[in-house]
Amino acid sequence: MNNHKQVRLIDENGLRVDGRKLDELRPIKIEVGILDKADGSAYVEHGKNKILAAVYGPREAHPKHIAIADRAVVRCRYHMAPFSTEERKSPAPSRRELELSKVIRESLEPAIMSEYFPRATIDIFIEVLQADAGTRCAGITAASLALVDAGIPMRELVAGCAAGKIDGKVALDLSDIEDKQGEADLPVALMSKSNVISLLQMDGSLTEEEFGQALQMSIDACRKINEMQREALRQKYHVIQAIQEKEEPAEVNA
Ligand code: ADP
Repeated sequence: MNNHKQVRLIDENGLRVDGRKLDELRPIKIEVGILDKADGSAYVEHGKNKILAAVYGPREAHPKHIAIADRAVVRCRYHMAPFSTEERKSPAPSRRELELSKVIRESLEPAIMSEYFPRATIDIFIEVLQADAGTRCAGITAASLALVDAGIPMRELVAGCAAGKIDGKVALDLSDIEDKQGEADLPVALMSKSNVISLLQMDGSLTEEEFGQALQMSIDACRKINEMQREALRQKYHVIQAIQEKEEPAEVNA
């Protein structure tokens, strides 16, 4: 957060710098299964963010001492490419990237049926090719699909989206300029069936009421993104449609 305001983030018509309304998501594009060499992959464009997720596994744990007797070890690496930001970013892992790798892993782990693969590892790689705020959330959305694409049994999907506060108003899905000049940012990840919030962080400050509004906005947006995730899976695996039809509660004929 930066307290020195340079740009008006909301104009007299209530529109934001990129023309969005306060509760409007950036355009999202999702593609599943785009890398041949990885076991699973997905590509997400969320506004100007461009993010690639790849999954390897389940495979034998190496080195062996990291193995866990009753479930797979899930590892995650979030990395921003040196060309992903305006100023060249150092390719060396930063403290921020280490933190994001941890919180992204923790937000996905509850959805992964790791108990099916004792002594194995599941590796998740998130490469941010272009960053424009909200990369941890878009990374979660992509990684969740890459896990499915790798054939790893999942309890449910996980989708991420942040909300925050700009020019004194609660707003959904902040872009980079809004994130830098705004007053708060609240990244959230939501599990698709149980509605468990598996990521909740906050930068800046919000009143209790604003917090409630921002959280609700993020949850609603995660549900929309989850629909897009399902659509992307349908595009790749037509079989998903059949599974879904089976899951639909049967109509009761009186
Ligand atoms: P998130 O991407 O999840 O919102 P942050 O709030 O830490 O994570 O970062 C917000 C945005 O700031 C990033 O998406 C990126 O656009 C920019 N950013 C982060 N780290 C760097 C960096 N080292 N160099 C340039 N820009 C950065």
